[in-house]
Amino acid sequence: MSLGFELISPTPDYPEGVTAASLITIAWTSKARAVVTFKRHVWDALYEAQVGRCCFCRRTMMDKTGAHLEHFVDKSQYSSFTFEVRNLALSCPTCNLRKNGRFAALVGKLKREAKRSGKAFVPRCPVLTTELVPGAPFPTKGSDFRWVNPHVDTYSMHIGLSKGWVFHGKTKKGLRTIRGTRLNEIVELEKRAMASRLTSPSSFLSFAVGAIAELNTNTAKDVGYAVGKEIARRLALKAGA
Ligand SMILES: [Zn+2]
Repeated sequence: MSLGFELISPTPDYPEGVTAASLITIAWTSKARAVVTFKRHVWDALYEAQVGRCCFCRRTMMDKTGAHLEHFVDKSQYSSFTFEVRNLALSCPTCNLRKNGRFAALVGKLKREAKRSGKAFVPRCPVLTTELVPGAPFPTKGSDFRWVNPHVDTYSMHIGLSKGWVFHGKTKKGLRTIRGTRLNEIVELEKRAMASRLTSPSSFLSFAVGAIAELNTNTAKDVGYAVGKEIARRLALKAGA
């Protein structure tokens, strides 16, 4: 299975006349020209560096506009990193939503624990090894991160990927990333997507070509199963006609 890219390199630069410091007082969702310019510039540079693939699951993203511009270190906890280019990567919507869900679950758990013990709620960022003091510079070393950082860590040193989109953790960091974004649950979605691709109306020749193409990314067993089901469905349709 091709990973597409190991890590984001080169790091995108800032558009001319724009810096992280110049944007810090502006909201991420602002339509201000500087923010729009920044997002478009970084988006294009990341799309190229990531060869159009998600920073977590390495699947090809449908198109540039369908990708999410993801903050690796949560911007709600560390607002000073909102416009930090080394904190941004493109991810598919599925991985982005799952990572956000993981973070929200952790915040909920910490709040419940604080309430039970009568202590103050202290937020924690799951991707960081240690929490940072206010005003600290953006961390840049592999050891600063608990999850595989797409700007810093070489993906294949932490995560293995085999045919059928099965992910293997090679390190604790790799395992945490796989669990945090539930990468192996996407396998089921991928099988369903393959089945729906095979059921699209086509001649038997293009159906066979499509099935062969699926062997590039899915296992022969899974493709065989989906093809068998589709042939049975077509025969049943023919018999009923
Ligand atoms: Zn993804």
